[in-house]
Amino acid sequence: MSASSGDAHGSVQSSQTGTELGKLSIPMSVHRYAIEASANAMIITRAEPPHFIIEYVNPAFERITGYRAAEVIGRSCNFLQGDDGDQAGIDEIRLALREQRAGNAVLRNYRKDGTLFWNHLFIAPVRGSDGAVSHFVASQYDISQAKQLESELLHLAHHDELTGLPNRALLRDRLLHAIACARRDGSRMWVAFVSLDRFKVINDSFGHGGGDSFLKVIAERLHAVVRGADTVARWRSDEFAILMSDQHEGGLGTAALERIMTAVSVPISYEGQEVVLTCSIGVSGYPDDGPGVDTLLERADIAAFHAKNDGRNCFRFHTADVNQKARARLRIEADLRLALERDEFVLHYQPQIDLGSGRITGVEALVRWQHPSRGLVGPVEFIGIAEETGLIVPIGNWVLRTACLQNRQWQQEGLPHVRVAVNLSARQFVCANLAESVGAILSEIGLAPQDLELELTESLVMRDVERGIGVLRALKHLGVSIAVDDFGTGYSSLAYLKRLPIDVLKIDRSFVMDIGSDDGDAIAASIIGLAHNLKLKVVAEGVESVEQLDYLRVHRCDQVQGYYFSRPVPAPAFAELLCVDGGHIIP
Ligand code: C2E
Ligand code: MG
Ligand code: MG
Repeated sequence: MSASSGDAHGSVQSSQTGTELGKLSIPMSVHRYAIEASANAMIITRAEPPHFIIEYVNPAFERITGYRAAEVIGRSCNFLQGDDGDQAGIDEIRLALREQRAGNAVLRNYRKDGTLFWNHLFIAPVRGSDGAVSHFVASQYDISQAKQLESELLHLAHHDELTGLPNRALLRDRLLHAIACARRDGSRMWVAFVSLDRFKVINDSFGHGGGDSFLKVIAERLHAVVRGADTVARWRSDEFAILMSDQHEGGLGTAALERIMTAVSVPISYEGQEVVLTCSIGVSGYPDDGPGVDTLLERADIAAFHAKNDGRNCFRFHTADVNQKARARLRIEADLRLALERDEFVLHYQPQIDLGSGRITGVEALVRWQHPSRGLVGPVEFIGIAEETGLIVPIGNWVLRTACLQNRQWQQEGLPHVRVAVNLSARQFVCANLAESVGAILSEIGLAPQDLELELTESLVMRDVERGIGVLRALKHLGVSIAVDDFGTGYSSLAYLKRLPIDVLKIDRSFVMDIGSDDGDAIAASIIGLAHNLKLKVVAEGVESVEQLDYLRVHRCDQVQGYYFSRPVPAPAFAELLCVDGGHIIP
């Protein structure tokens, strides 16, 4: 028989003498050799339904499938499918056999040892001299490698490279599917957004490589803590989304969310440090919170935002109220853009008292927003949004200029000299010409650099220590002093702290608040000791009681600031404080 070119129907004409191509005649033995030497498996079957009995297989068939020719001749081909008979490709092959035409399909086949290989099978009918189909020739291409590559590519396209978790695309897909199932069964499902708290601090402290290690650990834990049918996906850098199908309790029990929070908060040791991460979770559910993928995701995201706003390390369900808050945030953003033009910002001033002399020696300028309809808005409500939108840079410049101008004015009015402290945000700190613009403002206003202090948070400097040191040096070179704000709330490395050209550590309010409890005492005292060892001055923030004051005095804290002495007040009220007894607040 011949395996030469087929006719219009893809069939093969058999002849006893071999193929005649013009004058060239190829002997039968060459055809046989060609089939035997082929790298692809070839099978010749009878054309009789239903079994299409195998009459011949070539050596490549034996090699690929592991079956000897003697084991398969006389059998029907379908043993190659094992128990995996439900394949679309098989229908196509059956149809081609029935219609006695050529056909091809990709099939999952199984070797004698049970292992899978992907077989791209081509069949063609062979016609005898009478024109009737007597046989089929089948050639098999083992495309397992290509299939493997394809599935790897598919995996890559649907999974996050760092954590190996499903990515957004796959999550959306699964969500679509889950919503369709829930709609059909009348069941419910939930999306939980898990956002790691203050992860920026981790990146700033341990670098991005460190941050990545933490994310991998968290990804594994989340994956381990949910049920097999649930999907944990990586959503954004430090945010994960979990798709949860109907729970046995009928609703989403808070126990499931608590398990997630507990899993996240198990300490992670990294480079000899034990770090505890927490997360804020926002949950939305189908069908209560929305009909589609986008609404559910958006609402879970908003709920997570509110969990963060409510102090982090907690979970919040989406509610209409939450939705309203999200809209309010958008409104703030829009109003904030106009606030500078409309001159709506004001500064309030809070005195810093030197414990040695009992006198006001410094003042922190704190921005407020005189909103046309909402009244006086505190910085906590808008500094974050201003940071995100970049508006913090012009607002920060306004604060700096106004605070310097105000201090110069007090001096010109003959009031006792104080140093004015201004908070700098991350965005301002990375501005290329920070030192120059500070220098320009000082000389334009005529304020001595010693009368200005800049407050930075530790994570801000630690984000890029080498660069941070450069910026700080340039500022120091001007003669302004530098304070590290909220000290103790980040993860600064003491080794770096020693290298930073800074003057003051401000103990975070939370440690002052803890004075009176055993741990809190120890922390405040240790920070004072540490600062003095590094030849730095210490300011305690948030002093509210005489007990705290006494404690700080006993432990030789240099300066104090807090409601106990004065809340932040408008400029005229602060001037009055300065006037009274030359600014002596503590007798
Ligand atoms: P901060 O720099 O740590 O400022 C201290 C905050 O603690 C102020 O809150 C102050 O009013 C409050 N505080 C002071 N003493 C006490 C006390 O005894 N008890 C209590 N409970 N609170 C006290 P405020 O004014 O709401 O500012 C919050 C934060 O907003 C500031 O924290 C600072 O990080 C930021 N901020 C304020 N003004 C600016 C600014 O002009 N630029 C930038 N980038 N951030 C600013
Ligand atoms: Mg401050
Ligand atoms: Mg502070």
